[in-house]
Amino acid sequence: MKFLVLDDEPFVLKLLSWQLANLGFEQVIAMEHPHDALALLEEDANDIDMVLMDIQMPDMDGVEFVRHLTRINYTGGLVLISGEDQRILHTVEKLAKAYKLRVLGALHKPVIPVLLKEVIEYAPQRTEHNSRKIYAPDELRRALNNRELVNHYQPQVEMGSGRVVGVEALVRWQHPDDGLVYPAQFVSMAEEHDLIDDLTQAVMANALRQARHWHEGGVALQVSVNVSMDNLVTLDFADDVAHQVGKAGIPLSSIVLEVTESRLMKNPLTPLDILTRLHLKRIRLSIDDFGTGHSSLAQLRDIPFDELKIDRSFVHGAHEDPPQRAIVEASLDMAQHLGMKTVAEGVEDHRDWNFLQTAGCDIAQGYFIAKPMSARAVAPWMQQWESRWQGLSKSTS
Ligand code: C2E
Ligand code: MG
Ligand code: MG
Repeated sequence: MKFLVLDDEPFVLKLLSWQLANLGFEQVIAMEHPHDALALLEEDANDIDMVLMDIQMPDMDGVEFVRHLTRINYTGGLVLISGEDQRILHTVEKLAKAYKLRVLGALHKPVIPVLLKEVIEYAPQRTEHNSRKIYAPDELRRALNNRELVNHYQPQVEMGSGRVVGVEALVRWQHPDDGLVYPAQFVSMAEEHDLIDDLTQAVMANALRQARHWHEGGVALQVSVNVSMDNLVTLDFADDVAHQVGKAGIPLSSIVLEVTESRLMKNPLTPLDILTRLHLKRIRLSIDDFGTGHSSLAQLRDIPFDELKIDRSFVHGAHEDPPQRAIVEASLDMAQHLGMKTVAEGVEDHRDWNFLQTAGCDIAQGYFIAKPMSARAVAPWMQQWESRWQGLSKSTS
């Protein structure tokens, strides 16, 4: 892989080149001036596999550079790096994506080696071909047997205190040929072909092992696991989960099960039975994607949920869209009346964050805080979040 690193500070260039070399990447071209970098790319835009760039440079800013990358049809990866201003970072990221550039991530300075590695390693190799590829049930069955499913974890942050309270486990398939495959490409297939119990089992086992590891290290993170309604058809489910959590040696209350109803249940009594017993066992229940057709008021009435997750289609941009805003505020209000914790999904930028904080939402999750990451990236990310939080709380107070 050939890298182009662009930053107006020579020290940062040296540091990044050194970090890349440590990760085993020797082919690194470091440049201080955006015009030089462009000249190089113009010669052959596809000679470079990945561009790492500072978005605040004196002679050309990130927005301009992104525009040039589009003009020359650059198809490699792009990693954006910024100093203090978090807002700009996310704006440039959005813009670059709108231009259809392959943005692999946005990093805050000082760049932490593990997070850099993360961005490069888990770069979505989702070419057009892969993201539409349909997998056969047998392939997934094989993947389950070969333990190719891994969990990534997305942090959840308490909006009042900035404390990282938990993470949501999100399954990915580390495919031997296709790279990282996202759940949209295989979860509903698993549901349709009777593989969902094995899938949930694999995700749960990984999540519990990881939760135990964090607890032993003194980081008492709550771990949320997505459960399909199709898992809630055998009455043993509640006992099985409680047994596994007990065996892992972590408190039952540190596991959250997120449920979405994605299709009509043939026998709606069984899930109700199971969910009520999970609740009695003190396992926390969360209603996911609230507000979409799948998660309705009837579920809120019937099932003892501890937490309500407002779907990201309502959250992002709510501050400037009166109907969306009304839905978010009403959902928060209702959850509070029902004594439930509120989690906003899809908090993508600073304005989403400010709006939700003012509206009184308890917990935020979304790209503004962090993207889903591998387990080993969580601790270093938490350290970096602490200093970002200082800045955030200053800017809003
Ligand atoms: P979900 O449970 O609602 O998870 C949140 C999804 O939103 C994740 O996508 C996450 O990466 C994405 N997301 C988080 N923050 C943002 C943001 O700020 N902006 C945007 N645009 N997206 C954001 P992912 O990982 O692709 O998962 C998609 C869905 O697949 C999940 O939605 C969940 O329904 C399902 N899923 C994931 N893992 C599992 C699993 O282990 N079991 C089951 N049954 N379903 C799973
Ligand atoms: Mg979820
Ligand atoms: Mg959701």
